[in-house]
Amino acid sequence: MKRFKPLVLAPIAAFALALTGCVTPPPPPSDVAHIKLEQVDSSVVRVERLWLAREEGRLFAVGDVSKNLGADDTTRTHLDVVLLDANGVTLRETSVQFEPRQIPRAHRMHGHSRFHVLLDPLPPNVVRIEVRAHEGAH
Ligand SMILES: [Zn+2]
Repeated sequence: MKRFKPLVLAPIAAFALALTGCVTPPPPPSDVAHIKLEQVDSSVVRVERLWLAREEGRLFAVGDVSKNLGADDTTRTHLDVVLLDANGVTLRETSVQFEPRQIPRAHRMHGHSRFHVLLDPLPPNVVRIEVRAHEGAH
């Protein structure tokens, strides 16, 4: 009877992995696959993952953030989503929040917060998108 146990545990392990967010981001839609994505951490918040996804025809930047070791309060951190052209010129900059605002501790199962940013209408000459964790005001 013991040999049946791995069969039972395998889906549970896969579910636990999905919960921690430690899975490879999906590949980008082909028409935006040339866009470079850059994650910039702050002293409080780490941008763990960033990917592009089209949902119901609309393009989003999606990702996960975690709390840096020793950091306490993440409610004063936001994300600046910056769209740049080939010359490094900023085409658009948007400040967004991640949810939950207070990122859970990493040793818990849900050690991440999620962000979800609408990019449409995307300027046609975007070659790089940066998501920068930023504390305080502008
Ligand atoms: Zn900012």
